[in-house]
Amino acid sequence: MNKNIYLDHAATTYVKKEVLNEMMPYFSKKFGNPSAIYKLGDENKNIVNLARERVARALNAKPTEIYFTGCGSESDNWALKGIAFANKDKGNHIITTCIEHAAILKSCEFLEKLGFEITYLSVDKYGRIDLDELKNTIKETTILISVMFANNEIGTIEPVKEIAQIAKEHNIYFHTDAVQAVGNVKIDVKELGVDMLSLSGHKLYGPKGIGALYIKEGTNIEKLIHGGGQELGKRAGTENVPSIVGLGKAMEIAYRDFDKNNSKILALREYFITEVERRIPDVKLNGHRELRLPGNINFSFNGVDGGTLLEMLNLHGISASSGSACSARNVKPSHVLKAIGLDDNTIKSSLRFSLGVENTKGDIDYVLTILEKEVYKLRKI
Ligand code: PLP
Repeated sequence: MNKNIYLDHAATTYVKKEVLNEMMPYFSKKFGNPSAIYKLGDENKNIVNLARERVARALNAKPTEIYFTGCGSESDNWALKGIAFANKDKGNHIITTCIEHAAILKSCEFLEKLGFEITYLSVDKYGRIDLDELKNTIKETTILISVMFANNEIGTIEPVKEIAQIAKEHNIYFHTDAVQAVGNVKIDVKELGVDMLSLSGHKLYGPKGIGALYIKEGTNIEKLIHGGGQELGKRAGTENVPSIVGLGKAMEIAYRDFDKNNSKILALREYFITEVERRIPDVKLNGHRELRLPGNINFSFNGVDGGTLLEMLNLHGISASSGSACSARNVKPSHVLKAIGLDDNTIKSSLRFSLGVENTKGDIDYVLTILEKEVYKLRKI
């Protein structure tokens, strides 16, 4: 058995050849510090600026509104703590949701310890927030709303534009964690009206350990790392030039090839979902049927232990996930599946499959055959 079918793109992706090729010279030959004034440094300053332009272009932002960070988690931490610290004179109330990634939830816990008040919005059975609940939660002291663009486990896409409008009407900053969405959904920060948006390189065929935060011009946000003047003086540290180059290229490619890849992945997702529902009885699709990330599939297989099923798939060369990547080895039931109302047994029977550009219909047919067989076997035990 030599099959190797990767269906965990929401956890991470490989680095595309085109991306890697652009990165390579900056590890060795072109190693200069972008802050240096001689040619080797200057060239790297220009290449960092080019990457910033590429990221900005993909999001319809200005290059000066793009700040490179060490990862998506760092971008999330910065948005929350940076707004909290800089605006504490205006208020101490932050609104988020109960289905956010740990990078948001743990930042909120930290801020709570410092005296900030956090409201966690509930979600409906599909994982969508209620805009009326959001409006009713806003107070005089609310300084920030942070709602993810799309959920990493169930793929549900939140009403980001509507939330941004509500935030604007109340003069409150709005941040969205778009780590799962960038590269997979067309995003125009101006049209959406968001103030901050987090993204991460390794979810869009770029390198790991690089992210960015879009910060709308004029946003009152505290610096993240104090030190040198890098990242417009807001996030110090000598730039990770190869990874910045990689992120810029990955963003450019993601939107250059968007239409082709998007329609392919969407068709595969629809085929996968329809066939699972046709071939395997007693399954439940988690997340919204249409308002979901193109590559996300999350099913509960009633009566089956998801961990065992995952191991069986692994033995057949199939990589999937039983929850979000960061909690894959954590036995605690997923907070997202709990929030959409699933009981513990149903949560334990759930698997996430996340599709990527290299997947083919042949891959999916193979996975469906194995899945059908293994679910049947496990239910018999
Ligand atoms: N936010 C979401 C929604 C994610 O899915 C992830 C990673 O899985 C992150 C943030 C963290 O990104 P990074 O791994 O780059 O820190």
